[in-house]
Amino acid sequence: MICGCAARTRITRVTYPVASGDFGAASGGDPLYERSAVIDLDAIRHNVRRLADAASPAKVMAVVKADAYGHGAVPVARAALEAGASWLGVAHISEALALRAAGIEAPMLAWLHTTESNFGAAVAAGVDIGCSGWELDRIVAAAREQERPARIHLKVDTGLGRNGAPMDAWDHVVGEALEYQDQGLLRVVGIFSHLSVADEPERPETDQQLAAFREVLAVAEDAGVDPEVRHLANTPATLSRPDTHFDLVRVGLGIYGLSPFEGQTSAELGLRPAMTLRTLVSLCKDVPEGQGVSYGLRYHTSGPSTLALIPMGYADGVPRIATGGPVRVAGKTYPVVGRIAMDQMVIDLGNIGPAGAGLLGAEAELFGTGAGGGPTADDWARAAGTNNYEIVTRISPRVPRQFVNEPALSGQERP
Ligand SMILES: *Cc1c(COP(=O)(O)O)cnc(C)c1O
Repeated sequence: MICGCAARTRITRVTYPVASGDFGAASGGDPLYERSAVIDLDAIRHNVRRLADAASPAKVMAVVKADAYGHGAVPVARAALEAGASWLGVAHISEALALRAAGIEAPMLAWLHTTESNFGAAVAAGVDIGCSGWELDRIVAAAREQERPARIHLKVDTGLGRNGAPMDAWDHVVGEALEYQDQGLLRVVGIFSHLSVADEPERPETDQQLAAFREVLAVAEDAGVDPEVRHLANTPATLSRPDTHFDLVRVGLGIYGLSPFEGQTSAELGLRPAMTLRTLVSLCKDVPEGQGVSYGLRYHTSGPSTLALIPMGYADGVPRIATGGPVRVAGKTYPVVGRIAMDQMVIDLGNIGPAGAGLLGAEAELFGTGAGGGPTADDWARAAGTNNYEIVTRISPRVPRQFVNEPALSGQERP
C-alpha cells in the first residue's frame, strides 16, 4: 500500500512523463512506487463542497493555474466541477487551452497576458479573458478574425498594485469596452479585482479594497455594464469575509485543503490536504559519532547513529533551504539533517541499533494530510521560510502524480 492511505483508496490513473513500459517490467520497478505525489481527488471534492457551502449563494470558481498548484490541472478540474464548482480559473490562456483540449467545457477565465498571448485561440475556444485595458484592442481584433464575440472580465486594481486597470483609468476602460460591446465584438461577462491581505483578517486594507470595488461596480453599472459575475474573494476572503463574495469566489489554496491563515490549521477550517508527498528509504546505515552529513558537512552525528537516505531533493521541488523539514518513517517523524541536495537528503534515526536494517524500502512521507500528527506542507513552509502555496506548487515534474479516488467515468468527455 502506498502512502498509508486507507484501504478504500482506489488508484485509477497515473501520469508520468517517463516511459515505464517494457523498461519498468524488465527492471521490476514502477517509478510510482519509488516516489510520488499522491493526489486524493476525494479530498478535492470535499474541499470544494466545504468552500461552496461557505460561499453560497455565490458560485465557486476553482483556480487550477500552475497545474492546479502542482496537483494536476485536468483531474483536479474534473473533480472540482463534479463537486459543484461552476467555473475554472487559470492565469494563462495556454493553461485554459490545455483544459479545453482535455474536453473540459465549463466556463473558464484566464487573467494574465502578454502582447504575445493567443487571444484568437481563447476566443475560438470560448475562454473568458481577464482584461486590464491594453488587451481590449487585441481582443477585439481576435474577435473580428474569429467572427465570434469575445467574453471578457474587466479587472480593476483596487489596491494590490499588480494587474488590473488603475482606478483613475476605470471610466475610460469601461467606456471603451461598452463601445466594443455595442458593436457586438465582445461581451463584458464579469468585473473583478484581487485582494492583497485577506489572509491577515485584522488588517484594514481589505475594507478599503472592498469599498473601492463597490465604487467601480457602481461606475460600471451606471455606464450600462450588466455583468453576469462580479468577483473579488480568494480562499481567505471566502472563509472569513462573506461581504466580499458577490456572485462568484475564486478559490485556489482551499480546494487543495491547505489553510491560508497563519494561526489556523486546515483541519480547523474543515479542509483536507489533497497532496501526500512520499518516497521510500533508499539506504540505511550505521555510522559512528561525528559522522559528517551531506555537502558542506553542516551536520555531524552526536553519537553512534543510523542514517536513512531519502531519495528526493531540490530537483523534485523540495526547497534546498529547508534543512530541518520533517520526514515520517515507520510512524516517527525526523528532521532532515545537513544540506538538501539535488536528488537526496538524509535523516538521522538516532541510535536505534539493528532496527535500522529493517527500514530499507520503508515508506518515507514528507507531507500529507497531517492525520495522526504526520508532517504537513505547513511544516515544510516553516522550514523553508515560505508559504504552503509554494511548497505544493513547486513539486517538480520529476515526481509522478498519482491520482486516487478518481470520480466514476462520466459523460462523453473522457477517453
Ligand atoms: C491565484 C489567484 C486566486 C486564488 O487565490 P487563493 O488564495 O489560492 O484562493 C484568485 N484570484 C486570482 C486573480 C489569482 O491569481
